[in-house]
Amino acid sequence: MRYSRPSEPAPLASSPEDRVTSNISQSYPYSSETEAERAAAVDAVVAAHEGLGATLEGASTPLDASERWWTYHHAGCGGTLHVAGYGREQHAVVTVCDRCGATALR
Ligand SMILES: [Zn+2]
Repeated sequence: MRYSRPSEPAPLASSPEDRVTSNISQSYPYSSETEAERAAAVDAVVAAHEGLGATLEGASTPLDASERWWTYHHAGCGGTLHVAGYGREQHAVVTVCDRCGATALR
């Protein structure tokens, strides 16, 4: 059934490059922060959510040194996702929301 998903938007007349840009925009960085801001935000949310520190340790590996990190908008609650570590298995960073404590790969 090639047309079994009518809810999908009709393909736009666009080049492959346009489609790549569109995919990237879905997880486009929201803003950025310094390492000190990132570390403080992650510390605060870990302190506020019991068990979160262990969850992050299990899901991620420590970050390399960097002066700035991206932050991302958490559409689920309106909070900001801060980078907490590198994903152990995926080529992604593990982020944690400063409002609801959710973790997400970005
Ligand atoms: Zn959130």
